[in-house]
Amino acid sequence: MQLGKLDERIHVMDASSNAWSVIKDIAQSGVQEEAFYVCDIGDIISKHKEWKIKMPRVQPYYAVKCNDSLTVIEVLAALGTCFDCASKAEINKVLSVGVDPSRIIFAHPAKPLSHLRHAAAVGVDLMTFDGERELHKIKKVFPTAKLVIRIRCDAAIAKSCLGKKFGCDPEREAPHLMNVAHSLGLEIVGVSFHVGSGCDDPPIYHKAIAASRKVFDHGVFLGFSMKLIDIGGGFPGEKGCSLDRIAQVVNNALEEFFPDCGTQVIAEPGRFYVASAYTLAANVHSKRELRNVKDGSKTSVMYYINDGVYGSFNFILYAPAKVTPIPLKGTKHAVYPSSIWGPTCEDIDKVVNFIFLPELSIGDWLVFENMGAYNLQVASPFSGFPTPKVHTVIDERGWRLLKNKDLMKETHFVIGNSPPNLPPGTGRDTIDEKSVFST
Ligand SMILES: *Cc1c(COP(=O)(O)O)cnc(C)c1O
Repeated sequence: MQLGKLDERIHVMDASSNAWSVIKDIAQSGVQEEAFYVCDIGDIISKHKEWKIKMPRVQPYYAVKCNDSLTVIEVLAALGTCFDCASKAEINKVLSVGVDPSRIIFAHPAKPLSHLRHAAAVGVDLMTFDGERELHKIKKVFPTAKLVIRIRCDAAIAKSCLGKKFGCDPEREAPHLMNVAHSLGLEIVGVSFHVGSGCDDPPIYHKAIAASRKVFDHGVFLGFSMKLIDIGGGFPGEKGCSLDRIAQVVNNALEEFFPDCGTQVIAEPGRFYVASAYTLAANVHSKRELRNVKDGSKTSVMYYINDGVYGSFNFILYAPAKVTPIPLKGTKHAVYPSSIWGPTCEDIDKVVNFIFLPELSIGDWLVFENMGAYNLQVASPFSGFPTPKVHTVIDERGWRLLKNKDLMKETHFVIGNSPPNLPPGTGRDTIDEKSVFST
């Protein structure tokens, strides 16, 4: 028995439980071997509240590519966000939960023709572009689309620099592109940028918003009805990170360059909403000790876990990152220099190069926080090692907030912490259903 039979529903936890205790219950149930995630919807609700309080003028369009879980999309739709889609399939997924097409921006500057036709067919008319050829494609299949010109403005420090691939130069290229759009009879309504995902350079938003103003003004000069500015993504989402620094820069820059509240301001946060909501637990299934050749003493320990760089830790392959495993069980064992390896036969399948860990035994669990963004979506079951399943939980307060919202149904929820296939009496899953329903 494994988490495998999992349903997509959100489990309402009893008052004495939290995401961490649920991880313990599942890991220590005696029946779980495969790596698994716990997704805490309460964390996503807190993020949304934080956004609303700190950047009240900016309407979030959640970037679906970051984590396209149907549950996440449903919850965000119920909370009132809009959506940034990058493909036909993402558009369909968002529409499938009942979101109106007017709440979607097709924010990919280079769109395959069939995807553009699909957007036209389903009425998703707001979209970005950054080149002349895209304008001709749009003219051909969707001439009434509302266009947002994407300019380039890169953060000095970011986890990934999207400017290498997209965005026109705001001074040299943007005016020309807007002239072309004008002569083709197309409609430009706004300006967008993306400073880079995982941005650690808050002042860049000021520079980008200033550059957007100039482009915006050229649009006004050409007679376009300019009404939107899209500040993209780049916001941090890990536990303990705060939106404060970026929010302050953004709010001030909007005040300075777009004081007119008639200008609609949107953003495309991905990482911000989901990174900290997902926690991964992986099982130590094998182990190897390295010893000093002279005296035979243990010098370091290699652990093999059942998720790796072909799975949830895919990001390690393209961006070196510090990964911090937390042993689920505290132990008093001696600490050794350790390395952690993924389950496949490949030598690059290494999750942690060097860390001091108390000695672990086979069957022990390692927990990894902040795993909700750009991980599960790119994971593959390479070499027959399955990608982890997700168990979704919410606390009672979050459940009360969501259950009566539009687009959420009572049937999305199930009362009780744990997956139904864990043996009765496992862990702390002894909820009194009446007490939850009656209050
Ligand atoms: C990836 C992407 C996002 C999301 O970026 P985050 O840094 O995760 O917030 C938003 N907009 C576009 C166009 C993207 O490509």
